[in-house]
Amino acid sequence: MNAPETITLRGARPYGAEPVDIVIRDGLIAGIAPMGAIDPVGEIVEAAGRWVGPGLWDSHVHFTQHVIRRRRIDLTQTRSAGEVLDAVRTALDEGAPLTDGMLMGYGFRDGLWSEPASLAALEETVSDVPVVLVSGDLHCGWMNRAAAARLGAELDDTGLLREGPWIRLLHSFDEAAALPPDAYRDAADAAASRGVVGIVEFENTDNVAEWPARVAEGVTSLRVEGAVWPDRLEQAIAAGLRTGDRLDEHGLITFGRLKVVVDGSLNTRTAWCWDPYPGLDPASAHACGMESVPVPELRRLLERAHSAGIGAAVHAIGDRANSAVLDSFEATGMPGVIEHAQLVRDEDFSRFAELGLVASVQPEHAMDDRDIADHHWAGRTGRAFAFGSLHRSGAGLRLGSDAPVAPLDPWISMSAATDRSRGDRVAWHPEQRLPVDIALAASARGALAVGQQADLVVVDRDPYACDRDELRTMPVAATMLGGRFTWREI
Ligand SMILES: [Zn+2]
Repeated sequence: MNAPETITLRGARPYGAEPVDIVIRDGLIAGIAPMGAIDPVGEIVEAAGRWVGPGLWDSHVHFTQHVIRRRRIDLTQTRSAGEVLDAVRTALDEGAPLTDGMLMGYGFRDGLWSEPASLAALEETVSDVPVVLVSGDLHCGWMNRAAAARLGAELDDTGLLREGPWIRLLHSFDEAAALPPDAYRDAADAAASRGVVGIVEFENTDNVAEWPARVAEGVTSLRVEGAVWPDRLEQAIAAGLRTGDRLDEHGLITFGRLKVVVDGSLNTRTAWCWDPYPGLDPASAHACGMESVPVPELRRLLERAHSAGIGAAVHAIGDRANSAVLDSFEATGMPGVIEHAQLVRDEDFSRFAELGLVASVQPEHAMDDRDIADHHWAGRTGRAFAFGSLHRSGAGLRLGSDAPVAPLDPWISMSAATDRSRGDRVAWHPEQRLPVDIALAASARGALAVGQQADLVVVDRDPYACDRDELRTMPVAATMLGGRFTWREI
């Protein structure tokens, strides 16, 4: 990793302000002065009136799943077998990356195709390279003979495998282990190209060992705060790890928080709510969703982590799950983060601030899930994805993507948070919009100030003057992490 150099970033406008020159030395912001007021030192980089702000963080990422997804051909927009085959052909022509010698695709939905999938059609498109296409719901796979031979599968005329035999096959092929070393670097560099300097990693794996190993292999364009799941909590405590501890020599990787998941999701009607889901018998076992970790166990985990100096980030989507997690934090007296906080009771909003809790929210989910929320949470969506209510009640906010569920791009998250619309649709509960300055602050950690880490993003447009789509597609001219450029077009 190159040592940071002395740089003068000349003529950059802090959001909404007059141009300044920024001196960066030893990885820190060493000086900020009105443009031309100080003698430039080191390399002069002309910002030419572009806008500058603190580097961006994505506060909720599953990075390995993200790396896997971005290497698969995107089939989510296809509507027929023909469109899938066209996408495969295009990917081959463009030299799409192979994983363990196989071309992977994801996201087709064959339920409504007028012409069914056929092995012959897939073989006609590609027979020499093994191809495995995963359906959008993960319950079915379409593959050619080369892939079937490789994976030991038996195919019929459709080339499709469903349920049991397919799921076993998918589980037996460890795509994460088959990723080439540069896959992580490419994905980290791509995030840096959107202004990202750091992520909170929620992958359920040995983040303490794996991320420092990746840094040693050259994945150096992101800071990573790696969570620990309950099954590795005792191991972390035995190793003496505390939240905020540095895990690598460059100070890029830090030990994060204990992640506990207390309920399910909106789409699967497993988010734990106070009211039953419409259409489910209110007397049935899971009419209000599911509690995946019982409250006493959550309390025990929080107390155990807190006593060892480890913070907590608890996944709670339904309003009952949020109430239970708020109660648990209150009982243990520890600060922490609630991940998602998608549905919150009116009387619970103020408790976030009272208890010193941060709500870590994923605004693009509101765009993806507004119709399903209008259905499953009918009559309650005024307090769903309620970023405005959380902010007005004084809760600390962090924005994230939950990549690969939504794109790892903070500008998309900020656009969704501040406008609550996408495409040609009207805004969904516009009273729950966040002000732009709050969305920017919730997407960064440091500040543009002398003595701070030189984690910066330089952009072509003023975020305060952008409309929804301009914010969503913000051109990023440069990203700097600790005084090094991790992305640069200036
Ligand atoms: Zn997640």
